[in-house]
Amino acid sequence: MTHTERSQANWIMAIHAMPEIHAKLGSELDCEQVVMSALATRKYIYCKRRDCGHKNTIPIPTVRTFTCEKCCKEISITAKTNFHGAQKFKPRLMIIEFQERGITLSANQLAKLADVSTDTINRIQKRMAIAAANEIEKLAIEIPTVLCTNAIGRRTKKTPADEPPVSEEFDLQRRIQANESNFSNSRPELTELEEAVFHELSDEPKSFDQLFETTRMSASSLGAALMTLELKGCLERHTGDRFTLADSMQLSITIFESDSSGAKSAEGVARYLVNFVKDYFQAIGRKNLQLYSVLDWFCKDRTHWSPGSLLEFCAASRQVTYEEILDYVTPLTFFVIPEPDTS
Ligand SMILES: [Zn+2]
Repeated sequence: MTHTERSQANWIMAIHAMPEIHAKLGSELDCEQVVMSALATRKYIYCKRRDCGHKNTIPIPTVRTFTCEKCCKEISITAKTNFHGAQKFKPRLMIIEFQERGITLSANQLAKLADVSTDTINRIQKRMAIAAANEIEKLAIEIPTVLCTNAIGRRTKKTPADEPPVSEEFDLQRRIQANESNFSNSRPELTELEEAVFHELSDEPKSFDQLFETTRMSASSLGAALMTLELKGCLERHTGDRFTLADSMQLSITIFESDSSGAKSAEGVARYLVNFVKDYFQAIGRKNLQLYSVLDWFCKDRTHWSPGSLLEFCAASRQVTYEEILDYVTPLTFFVIPEPDTS
């Protein structure tokens, strides 16, 4: 196993932090109580039996299951939350501890420290990351996944998800190679109306009616904007009046802005994420790029993720199923929180 220096340094920090973390978290029972208390902030829980639906007050001291006040069937207070189905709570709280200390570890390393399987760690982390994938959009810079192909490892064997999106990966690489020389700053100047339409375009064909609905502009303005965008080489018109972003544009999207720290280049942010992945995970599947960028966010953003807030978030966030983890695929553009001082 090879580790870069950054990863090695984190591993040493983690080992040093372990006695303190063990002392803080205590036994599995202590951890369960911490999670139950976090879940109890909801106060009420509805009976999920369709013929009952009674609004139950969560009993104090908080227990994992209790009986419905009306129908007397068992109710689990983890139901529909990120903690549902958890066998043990301590590994989850340990992951949160390391994230709050800004210590990024690989699933293998976490598995060793938490004494569970790498698969278990992967599932826990992906559940958290999928639940937070919507949150990151509000604060992050959007970048094209093609800029991060250096972080992507081809899978050599079949995964639980059966097949990685291989054809899509090949397609992305083909496009990168075709556009390598001219993918930055090749976007022409756009008017405000054109910009609004441009935003709605992707590599998935959209009809005039769909664009009419999402852009909310008049039919004549939309028609004009589509025509000028086509002339500027930004879109491709397909049969049946359907539109996609032009191939060359997929790679030259540099419209990304960060609301806190001003505009940053997509390339710079992508470079940062690629280094992050290479340093700590060597390489990851293309489908997981967004999820690892969320894990990076958990670890480095102490303003958003102040102590305790990740636990709170998990307690409040919805249940993510195993099927959902397998099905998750990073879109063609995804969100990354840039380093504070990257220029
Ligand atoms: Zn009931």
